[in-house]
Amino acid sequence: MKKKLRILCVADEVDLLVYSSQINERFADIDLVLSAGDLPDEYLEFIASMLNRPLVSVAGNHDRSDSPRDRESLRYISDQQRPGLGRIRFSIKKESGISILGLPGSIRYNNGQNQYSDAWMTCKIICMLPRLLIRRLLFGRSVDIILAHSPPRGIHDGGDPAHTGFSAYRWLIRVAKPYYFIHGHVHLYDLQSLRELNVGDTAVVNVYGHSVITLLKEDRDAG
Ligand SMILES: [Zn+2]
Repeated sequence: MKKKLRILCVADEVDLLVYSSQINERFADIDLVLSAGDLPDEYLEFIASMLNRPLVSVAGNHDRSDSPRDRESLRYISDQQRPGLGRIRFSIKKESGISILGLPGSIRYNNGQNQYSDAWMTCKIICMLPRLLIRRLLFGRSVDIILAHSPPRGIHDGGDPAHTGFSAYRWLIRVAKPYYFIHGHVHLYDLQSLRELNVGDTAVVNVYGHSVITLLKEDRDAG
């Protein structure tokens, strides 16, 4: 048996096709909403409450700091107080019957918030490897979806320092074998540009603006 999920993905820019009184008619068949970052909290809360569907998000480099330490010291409103944002940070969340690994932030280019060096991100992912490998052995894939803000190095990324992707994401995709690697961060000024590329069995999708994906999941997959 296969389970079918329709997922609305958003990133980087408030999309007037989504931020609209027609949202329920346009996206009537949506089961889950994913945000790949750089979006206002109010926009995400609008989508989740209007569609009345769960939302999972990661922080982008233009979002408020995602680190628990910064959140405390700067008295940011905690995610507990804004449950509609469903934010995840280097962790796996189960939602609507699928597993999602959240990877926030972009490459470090001006010491801003939610920016990491390529070496730091590589170490962070190496630390997660034991858990990911056990899950792959058990379920055939580590997670169903990787939700990141930044693209992998060399896939949909830009040539400038701010839009270079993370090199570790390239091998992470091969190891974790998710159905989808969802990201934003790279703006598409020509909406005809290539948004999706297959790496092994994984579709890497730049969801700038909005994108609707369909996930067909085997029942035994990534629990
Ligand atoms: Zn960004």
